[in-house]
Amino acid sequence: MRRREIVLGIPWEYFKDFDFTQLGFKCGLEVHYQLNTKKKLHCRCPAKMVDGEPDAATIRHMRPTLSELGEYDGTALMEFKTRKEVVYLLYDEVVCTYEMDDTPPFLINREALDIAIEIALMLNCHIVDEVHITRKQYLDGSIPTGFQRTAVVGINGYIPYKDRKIGVRHLTVEEDACREVSDVGHRITFKTDRLGIPLVEVITEPHMRTPWEVEEVAWMIGRTLRATGKVRRGIGSVRQDINVSIDGGTRVEIKGVPRIGLFAPLTAIEALRQKALLELREELLSRGFTAENMEFRVMDVGSEISELICDALSKPIKSNMKFKMVEAKGWDDLLAFNVQPGKPFLHEISERVRVIACLDRLPNILSPSLITSITPDEVQWSKFLKKHSVEERSGIILVWGDEDDLKTAVDEIMIRMREATIGVVNETRQACSNGTTDFERILPGPNRMYPDTDHPPVPISNEHIKGIEVNLPERPWERAERYRRLGLSEHLVNELLDSKYQDTFDRVASEVAVNPTIIAKALAEDIKWIRREGYDTEKLSDERFVEIFRAYERGLFPRDILPSVIIMTIEDSRSIEVILREKGIEMVNKSEIASTVREVIKANNPTHLNNDARFRYLMGIIMRGLFGKAEGGKVAEILKDSLRNLSYR
Ligand SMILES: [Zn+2]
Repeated sequence: MRRREIVLGIPWEYFKDFDFTQLGFKCGLEVHYQLNTKKKLHCRCPAKMVDGEPDAATIRHMRPTLSELGEYDGTALMEFKTRKEVVYLLYDEVVCTYEMDDTPPFLINREALDIAIEIALMLNCHIVDEVHITRKQYLDGSIPTGFQRTAVVGINGYIPYKDRKIGVRHLTVEEDACREVSDVGHRITFKTDRLGIPLVEVITEPHMRTPWEVEEVAWMIGRTLRATGKVRRGIGSVRQDINVSIDGGTRVEIKGVPRIGLFAPLTAIEALRQKALLELREELLSRGFTAENMEFRVMDVGSEISELICDALSKPIKSNMKFKMVEAKGWDDLLAFNVQPGKPFLHEISERVRVIACLDRLPNILSPSLITSITPDEVQWSKFLKKHSVEERSGIILVWGDEDDLKTAVDEIMIRMREATIGVVNETRQACSNGTTDFERILPGPNRMYPDTDHPPVPISNEHIKGIEVNLPERPWERAERYRRLGLSEHLVNELLDSKYQDTFDRVASEVAVNPTIIAKALAEDIKWIRREGYDTEKLSDERFVEIFRAYERGLFPRDILPSVIIMTIEDSRSIEVILREKGIEMVNKSEIASTVREVIKANNPTHLNNDARFRYLMGIIMRGLFGKAEGGKVAEILKDSLRNLSYR
């Protein structure tokens, strides 16, 4: 009859070679970067995050109002259904009456606006003649006004990528929302320090065709913004949303993805989730289901619930929760249909119940379609279902909670199951660390924007734009091209683009005649592990690096000990020559190397080994003796010659 265990999902190996272009994979990015300004965007509070106890707190409630067109917004309704109480933690130092919607906005922060223009120009955008402040509806409580002030600064830009262009639809400057502290039951709590900090939002066209392209383009956008030196760095300063769709599916937004490293798995799994939901839809249609004719029976479950003895139910039973059972005719085992790795369709239902009915203790639903070690077993279920005269081919969901939440939950279960006949639902989802996603909210309706009557338009003159344009930093793809011409590998080019030592590299490479690859490797790679080893690499100035590579250029030490020399110069501020002399680091000449090689061969020549092994063995001994005194390459050359001569004898 029903499946007995979770069918664990699609392994990474499966979609590594999957052809996503065939699915009609489409993805666009919405990238938010906080700007490094002194003040907030629409008030004069300092733009910084604070820790510690709040100075005050206030509680508000959300209520939907009819729009001018006489409709309720879908998201607004959903938020209302959750009956949330919103708590704002206030800090005197960084919050004024503007953030709490008690006073109108100040004129827009010009510093922030200029940074936004600069970034828009970097992304080849056309800059608007006049900036119009707009209100963007924000109903999750993270902005007390219920809207965010936002303004388009640039439109129709692009980033060159492979042999094509990734379109940048527009770039806006806007105010950041509150930080969520907790969201438990019917109470959500926010910290207000972040509220109002300026950020830019870069929205690309859905031009990425595979999960891997999404990742590469995201890196490129990040590098472009960081190249200005005017965006904030660190945890929470960057937030990225990804829009994914496939043919026949719909745009689903994955919100707040913290790491670019998650982009490929997240978008791959979302594409396959949509594919699975479309398959589920086909199956439902083939069974003759539509959203209208789907048949449900909702049953009250009383004291007989105690017959289902299992870990998942012991607590709800003890705390006298109410129980209901939803029977969906003809669903059979489709509830266990896998839509994400380890997440069957039941999980989609459970998520809706969690978010909308606020039943957030998991598991919040149980079904005989999914039997695990904490659920009732098959025998218990079968007896129980017989008692309730449930049809053999029905899908069953058991749910519990207090009376109000339970009613919302039962409705939501039926809504989600009906929606399965549509296929993919337009919604926002949150990223999980394993690459899967969970439901977050229904996507807002299209009328989310309306003009802000509190703020006059801000004209941007051509002269002003030109003034910013002449000082634009080098774009990362231009820099990459320059590095490629220096002979750096693609790997090193990318490492350097993400390194804060790229300007140092430029300086050293232009002043010292050392192979650029050696410089790049030291600055983009070695320096990272030196830092990880606990050395304070911040102490090294560009001048110091020039000095180190000059010494290397003059042959004062071999390449093998370049990282050690860097470490020595962190701890010792004297000149490199003095340090090297004191440590006894001195290069030996060719004839000295040759005589060391001869001695070592004489003393230990393992003739029983084959040529390769013998070479490696001897090389090891010789380099231990000559470490810091000779280039490994040169030693290898001499050793090879000597061994060849030996074998001729
Ligand atoms: Zn303020």
